[in-house]
Amino acid sequence: MYLNDRNASAELLHYRALSRREVLSAEDARKLKIYENGFLGECLYDKLFDETGHDNLYIFRDVYLASGKSGAQYDSIIIANDVIAVNEIKNYSGEYYYKNGRFIKNNEVVPDNPFTQVDRAVGKLYRIFRNAKITVDIKGKVIFPNDDFKLYSEDNSIWKNIVIRMDLKKYFRQFKESYNTEKAEGLVSLIREHITENPYFNGSSNAERVSTGLYCGNCGGFNLIKTRYHRQCVSCGMKESNETHMLRVMSDFKYLFYGEGMTRKSVLELIGNEFDKKVVYRAFLKYCDVHKKGNQTYYTFKYHDFDDAYKQTKKNMKHRDYLT
Ligand SMILES: [Zn+2]
Repeated sequence: MYLNDRNASAELLHYRALSRREVLSAEDARKLKIYENGFLGECLYDKLFDETGHDNLYIFRDVYLASGKSGAQYDSIIIANDVIAVNEIKNYSGEYYYKNGRFIKNNEVVPDNPFTQVDRAVGKLYRIFRNAKITVDIKGKVIFPNDDFKLYSEDNSIWKNIVIRMDLKKYFRQFKESYNTEKAEGLVSLIREHITENPYFNGSSNAERVSTGLYCGNCGGFNLIKTRYHRQCVSCGMKESNETHMLRVMSDFKYLFYGEGMTRKSVLELIGNEFDKKVVYRAFLKYCDVHKKGNQTYYTFKYHDFDDAYKQTKKNMKHRDYLT
């Protein structure tokens, strides 16, 4: 069973929000594509795992665990038979060669080495358990869920650390008969205690380059007609309530200016004063946590992102959204 949701990462949400409000540089467009592709691979992994079934297991997805002054990102942590498996998911496609400790595609060396990444992640986890005086076995695997991935290597030592798409269901099925005891619950609690936000992402964008205003959630157009409770898109006819727009604005703000406090002024700037300050304030009180620092008040969005907030609050909204 999954112990948490798989959400789009802060990096992906940053570049998505940025792409809505500015023409991305070639470098940013490349990053957006990489993060989108990685997320697709993770969702594919989940789908295949769902098809095999996992009620008897504990699974954490997409967590950053802090250990001491550093930490590591985990795509998936499976606990089965009181043993831990760390899965690093790589949505590679095409033909790769593995030679002298490096992945090579089209004669170019891939800068990341997934074996090193998973090894590091396993090491960090060992450290967390050792500090808590718990002995546990941890195995690391690099998972390649893409059908279109081919790997060639003369180094036969790597295959035991890899699961390719063709073998993925077999890999999941081997957990079928396993069960967890009380020890596993202890492992789960300890992992939970170490989950934090990834501290290494600093997404602050150049606020001057970002287009201000509100945009359509359906087609992305900025040309909206104002009615009392809605904005209607001139291009596609989508009508979205003011509240839906505010959710999107707060989610965008969170990831455009990641880690920065949100204030009434900064949000009014982002939306080009399209809403009255009372509308912004009401949304803050309803959807944000309030923080006071000296005589400054700032707000943090309570939800992971727009999709998460919309899913949870849609049914309580007074005005619905629809395509005209
Ligand atoms: Zn539209």
